[in-house]
Amino acid sequence: MVAALEVKDLSTSFRTDDGIVQAVSGVSFRLEPGSTLGVVGESGSGKSVTFLTVMGLVDPRQATVRGSVLLQGEEMLGASQSRMRQIRGRTIGMIFQDPMTSLNPVKTIGWQLQEAVLIHQDVSKKEARKQAIDILKEVEIPRADQRVDDYPHQFSGGMRQRVMIAMALINNPEILIADEPTTALDVTTQAQILRLMKKLQAEHETAIVMITHDLGVVAELADHVIVMYGGKVVEQANVDDLFVKPEMPYTWGLLGSLPRLNATGARLDQIPGQPPSLLNPPSGCPFHPRCEFVMSICRTELPGLDLSTVGNDHRFRCHLDEESRTRIWNQKKAALVNEDAA
Ligand code: SF4
Repeated sequence: MVAALEVKDLSTSFRTDDGIVQAVSGVSFRLEPGSTLGVVGESGSGKSVTFLTVMGLVDPRQATVRGSVLLQGEEMLGASQSRMRQIRGRTIGMIFQDPMTSLNPVKTIGWQLQEAVLIHQDVSKKEARKQAIDILKEVEIPRADQRVDDYPHQFSGGMRQRVMIAMALINNPEILIADEPTTALDVTTQAQILRLMKKLQAEHETAIVMITHDLGVVAELADHVIVMYGGKVVEQANVDDLFVKPEMPYTWGLLGSLPRLNATGARLDQIPGQPPSLLNPPSGCPFHPRCEFVMSICRTELPGLDLSTVGNDHRFRCHLDEESRTRIWNQKKAALVNEDAA
């Protein structure tokens, strides 16, 4: 089957006054039709730049891009700006963290939804308005036929995010790319938005890329996961395998920092240290300056993307041997269970 999206050996670097920033290095993955790929990492891990590159949104005057981006089998790298504009909004819909940066504050929601339809479909204004109201109903905006004439500031944060989902889905795209779509929302609204995305995915058979720093969101929604660090994929697996046996210390750290509160209300186990500079990246394993298991080889040699014995095409980068990884993960897992029980 042709993948909805197949990225092969993608690298994106930016020329800056201080030197070359290698934001993405050798990233490969497949997104199957109708499935959900979670892309996880801290800010600066390269996850957002990977998908800005996929969508043709990096400035070619500043960026150098290498590799291959196949959208339903069609090569996108090197495609014309007009072809990319056709694709954005029609084949690929996008949702961002802050709807106010994407919605025009001086136009009604209905006008903005109609415009999205009229750019990509040969239909009358009346039909475009009908589609706008229908999609607002689908994303569960109450009194959609009246609220279609409201302005973005008249909606709450959660409702604005529903409008963004409506905007992204109105042309029935094959792929939805959602970049931290629930980060700015409270926990209850976050859960409602994720449930809504799941429902719409089933109805529209859309493939979703969910970019997030939160493995909890991935557990909720994704079929497959890639974990990114320092511009590289450091682990990839289907979601069950990743939670059963994560294979490298950065993923262990992400799992340990899932929001769980201790008795004083503080978050447990943040990963100590800062993500690496992409201007002067560390040699060897990009995680070595923060890794509690670092060995001398880690400082000089980048681990390959090795195959795990757990799961199907579960891959990871780490120099620790299998026996050590299994022992350490079992200890970490036991500690996490004990903390949860305390
Ligand atoms: Fe840690 Fe070394 Fe594994 Fe990198 S390769 S995650 S530094 S143990």
